[in-house]
Amino acid sequence: MRNAPNDLRGKRAVVTGAASGIGLGIARRMAEAGASVIATDIDARRLSDELARGSYGPVATVHPLDVADIAAVHSVFARIAADGGIDIAVNNAGLAQGADLLATTAQMWHRMMAVNATGCFFCMQAAARAMIAAGGGRIVNISSHSATLGSAGRSAYAATKGAVNAMTRVAAVELACHGIRVNAIAPGPVETPHSNLSHSPERRAAWLKAMPVARYALAEEIGDIAVFLASPAADHITGQILAVDGGYSIAGLRESPKNIS
Ligand code: NAD
Repeated sequence: MRNAPNDLRGKRAVVTGAASGIGLGIARRMAEAGASVIATDIDARRLSDELARGSYGPVATVHPLDVADIAAVHSVFARIAADGGIDIAVNNAGLAQGADLLATTAQMWHRMMAVNATGCFFCMQAAARAMIAAGGGRIVNISSHSATLGSAGRSAYAATKGAVNAMTRVAAVELACHGIRVNAIAPGPVETPHSNLSHSPERRAAWLKAMPVARYALAEEIGDIAVFLASPAADHITGQILAVDGGYSIAGLRESPKNIS
């Protein structure tokens, strides 16, 4: 019998970048849905602090992992697979260093590419190998609205997330025959330690004005969508980039024609 929608009991879910922000919200929601969470992050101390706090649920394990280190990605995923398999992989680890095209340094470009694009790619590859051996699985990549909308100050970051969208679609096509679904979530602004630090009051006000829903998402709300995409309820969805952005990416004029000439 199929599990009820959004029931992840008996599933093992790997989440990258799970020590903070959106990754932490996803890991919490996966644990609440019944999954055994395997939380990974480059920040080993924060991971163990969250494990000690019980953030990943009662049966969680943690593995320090820099997703930009391809050899480490393969060895950590192989170890996790050998421990009991991988049913769900959420490739969330990422970083955003805002800079205009003219101000972007080679170091910024290479680091964002290494973590956001290369990291996502090889985590998908490592997860897919384990999933094929087990007969199927679910992959959820964390992209961004920046992948499709030209926001100033986001040129290198946007390129990395455009790569995530492209690799999501191709992987969905290649892996469907193995029972693996691959989707991405494209959040708008989310309340996280990163956005709290980097968004000035003016930037925050500009965001709220541009979003019909007029508030930032909570990390757990992104987690709810990740649970949905990893669950039997989403069995017929693959290769999609799901905007979770309070209507930002579909908004046209915000004033009724009655009020503007
Ligand atoms: P965050 O900085 O709060 O958390 C990111 C986590 O990833 C941290 O725990 C960090 O230690 C970890 N990390 C960084 N580099 C890593 C690496 N090389 N290997 C493994 N872990 C690493 O950021 P966040 O806002 O939660 O962002 C999470 C994801 O969501 C990113 O992919 C980001 O691009 C995307 N995103 C965020 C927002 C937003 O508004 N916060 C919007 C759209 C997309």
